[in-house]
Amino acid sequence: MKAHDGMYIGGEWRPAAGPDTIAVVNPADEQVIGHVPAGTAEDVDAAVRAARAAFPGWAATPPAERAGRIAALRDVLAARKDEIAGTVTAELGSPLPLSQAVHAGVPVLVAGSYAELAASYAFEEKLGNSTVLLEPVGVVGAITPWNYPLHQIVAKVAPALAAGCTVVLKPAEDTPLTAQLFAEAVHEAGLPAGVFNLVTGIGAVAGQALSEHEGVDLVSFTGSTAVGRRIGATAGAAVKRVALELGGKSANVILPGADLAKAVNVGVANVMSNSGQTCSAWTRMLVDAERYEEAVALAATAVAKYVPGERIGPVVNAEQQARVRGYIEKGVEEGARLVAGGPEAPRDQGYYVSPTVFADVTPDMTIAQEEIFGPVLSILRYEDVDDALRIANGTVYGLAGAVWGADDEEAVAFARRMDTGQVDINGGRFNPLAPFGGYKQSGVGRELGPHGLSEYLQTKSLQF
Ligand code: NAD
Repeated sequence: MKAHDGMYIGGEWRPAAGPDTIAVVNPADEQVIGHVPAGTAEDVDAAVRAARAAFPGWAATPPAERAGRIAALRDVLAARKDEIAGTVTAELGSPLPLSQAVHAGVPVLVAGSYAELAASYAFEEKLGNSTVLLEPVGVVGAITPWNYPLHQIVAKVAPALAAGCTVVLKPAEDTPLTAQLFAEAVHEAGLPAGVFNLVTGIGAVAGQALSEHEGVDLVSFTGSTAVGRRIGATAGAAVKRVALELGGKSANVILPGADLAKAVNVGVANVMSNSGQTCSAWTRMLVDAERYEEAVALAATAVAKYVPGERIGPVVNAEQQARVRGYIEKGVEEGARLVAGGPEAPRDQGYYVSPTVFADVTPDMTIAQEEIFGPVLSILRYEDVDDALRIANGTVYGLAGAVWGADDEEAVAFARRMDTGQVDINGGRFNPLAPFGGYKQSGVGRELGPHGLSEYLQTKSLQF
């Protein structure tokens, strides 16, 4: 798609307040593919005013009508799927099949789920002699990352719209074209002017202005822990609602009775998908001492299929490439055994990282504790099930995870003891209704399904 040179505010593309722009780069070949405006506090203010003005009307729109608009948005996203996939591939570098299936496909499912939920959700409940009204919070400031450019947007905007909130979105600077395409889709779906507004720009300027704006009632942020902490502190000082979806270091626990080959193969695919740039990725594989070497050999074989430039794309930018490389060097330095990949870039052009597997990783190592956000898998050894649990729970994070057992019952018994927000049992399948979000420092709040919708509601009780 061709980049817009303005902001989408109040139902139209308006010139940006300032002259600065952001270059959008294709990470697969390092070529500039377009420019978008770098928003300022002035653009953010205009967008928040438009969202404020649209709020009373949208909040009062019957849920069934809101559902109809969200269904129209889903239909536009579905109709423009190829264009979305091409845009994500151009600015994120993901292989086209992944962009089609996941980056363009999942948002259609999520938007569809919110079209249904808006129509069926109980926005009013009876409780004894009270009626409880679940009312929209107001204007939402949504700040999203680049790793799943459209999914991250839809996972915030669709429930906000379903709840009756209006939105100002500040998308990641690396993937603003997908966000502009989304704004086009909102327009085409016929949402009233001002219900959704887009301000592109850099985090420290436009993102910060949005998170600090007095006219924003709720800030929903997904991204790094460092920025999340700051946004949480600002929201706390202003006594404002906040939702934070931060990092992860999820465990893939393979219990002694599990199908090892299946668990390792699915585990490797989970980490390598999207070049490891998935907050919920199962980056720590836990295997019992007896089958440990067999698992390492299986993982080395599985990862060899991820040929850079074919099955696996680059990481998003030069900074991330350097960061991931630094972690791989640190792993070697701290004594982990490299069984695939390594710090050297596998291609001269593009921000590629070699798909990397480390064995003999111990829980205290940096690569077992910090989020790498690249195609790097750490395999850890455990002595017994209690040891596995200690290792699985032994990080500051708690976003996702997986357990493989002899049967579901055994895996569920282990999953109940994990300090984490989502666990896939013997493989699992994506469910757009399942709440997603973190325990511990992985965040505050939930996205997706009815739990995701409830984040955008506040409660009023009437006593009779
Ligand atoms: P980031 O937190 O800097 O960026 C996320 C979003 O926040 C972007 O839209 C950015 O513009 C905005 N932002 C940045 N500074 C801001 C500020 N001061 N105020 C308000 N908004 C601000 O993340 P990044 O630098 O793109 O990635 C760094 C690391 O974050 C990654 O390596 C990874 O570990 C983590 N990350 C996690 C997720 C996730 O899904 N949880 C997604 C992307 C990145």
